[in-house]
Formats: sequence, C-alpha cells, structure tokens
Amino acid sequence: MKLPKTTNRFCPYCNKKTEQKIKLVGTGGKRGTLTRGSKYRAKKRGLGRGIGNLGKWGSKPAQTKHKRKSKTTKKPNIMYTCSVCKKSKYRNSSKNKRTGKILQE
Ligand SMILES: [Zn+2]
Repeated sequence: MKLPKTTNRFCPYCNKKTEQKIKLVGTGGKRGTLTRGSKYRAKKRGLGRGIGNLGKWGSKPAQTKHKRKSKTTKKPNIMYTCSVCKKSKYRNSSKNKRTGKILQE
C-alpha cells in the first residue's frame, strides 16, 4: 500500500493548514469474524495443528493471500501528526476512501 509520508492538512489545534505526518494504525481487533472459518472451530475439529506448510490445514494449497501483510485496496486508518504542535488526529476508516482511490485523485 502506498501513502505519502506527509500532507498539508487542516489542524484543529493550530486552526490552520499545517504539514502533517501520516501514520497507519490498526483497526483495533477483529470484528465480525465468521465462525465457520475460525481457528477455534478448526481446533475443535482436530485441524489447525501440525508442523510445516500445511497451507490452510492440509486440504488445499497454501493461501498466500492470507499471508499478505496488507491488502492492496483497503480503507486505511490514518493517524495525522501535526509537525507544528505535535498533536495527533485520527481519521476513521468509515469516512475514508480506498487507497487506490486516493492515489487517483
Ligand atoms: Zn497543529
């Protein structure tokens, strides 16, 4: 995922546009995880154990998509840190645009 390191953005503390650092923050835990594909269920059924490359527990080839660290077009949660007053502001991901869309603009 590509993001600029700094942007000029309005700072509510300085009450003007300042240069702000961009930092990605986590979403804060899993939400709405489907139980069918849960690790807990797999363990109950005797799966999800073993040594080496079992992929997703043996039956199918390894799902490389799950091993990716970040999605290519996800809505990022961004923390903006003002370079003038050093205060940070969080932007909620629900109001964000996808990264691919941001870069097009
Ligand atoms: Zn500021």
